Amino acid sequence: MKRLILASNNKKKIMEMKEILKELDIEVKSLENENINIDVIEDGETFEENAKKKAKEIYAFLLKRGDKDFIVLADDSGLAVDYLNGEPGIYSARYAGEHGNDAKNNEKLLQKLSGVPKENRGARFICQLAMFTDRGEYFEVTGEVKGYIIEELHGAGGFGYDPLFFYEQLNKTFGELIPEEKNQISHRGNALKELKRIIHEFL
Ligand code: IMP
Repeated sequence: MKRLILASNNKKKIMEMKEILKELDIEVKSLENENINIDVIEDGETFEENAKKKAKEIYAFLLKRGDKDFIVLADDSGLAVDYLNGEPGIYSARYAGEHGNDAKNNEKLLQKLSGVPKENRGARFICQLAMFTDRGEYFEVTGEVKGYIIEELHGAGGFGYDPLFFYEQLNKTFGELIPEEKNQISHRGNALKELKRIIHEFL
């Protein structure tokens, strides 16, 4: 059976991706599962560039290691707030400086939106997926979800900006959703749904 290797070190992201992909006829593995200790530098200017770079570096490493029968999948994602002209965007993970400090990132976002009325607090989560197969085939897909940024944290689920991202259709923040609910409607869920439709061609 082929292995689908997720080119990420973000445990929460990997958990979501594994859950969404579990019905596929393929073994889904993290970099840790594969003993790959690589932290790809995300210096691209777009989600697409960063996702492609992450997938390509892991793909090149696996080829060099002599691996066969694998697909590499990278997710570059983030939050784009309308009032902030798309910020934090590709800087979502390190908006307040330190990579992956969700509490500080949320605090900075709230500061930037201080006093901004609800109608101007619209935002989107974006998920860009990039996939390389062991035969060098390449495929990319994007998923999005719309919501708005509330004024204080609600819920302890998910990760990143989830407690601030209000999803009107369910009248809850992403932080208040159970994983199954988030995966059904999230940017990552939407992108992976699309990927699942085509991945059979590459198995
Ligand atoms: P990446 O690992 O470079 O793709 O950065 C992703 C960053 O975007 C995370 O650290 C979060 O700040 C944010 N982000 C991406 N997806 C989500 C999500 O599903 N919920 C909340 N924040 C997210």
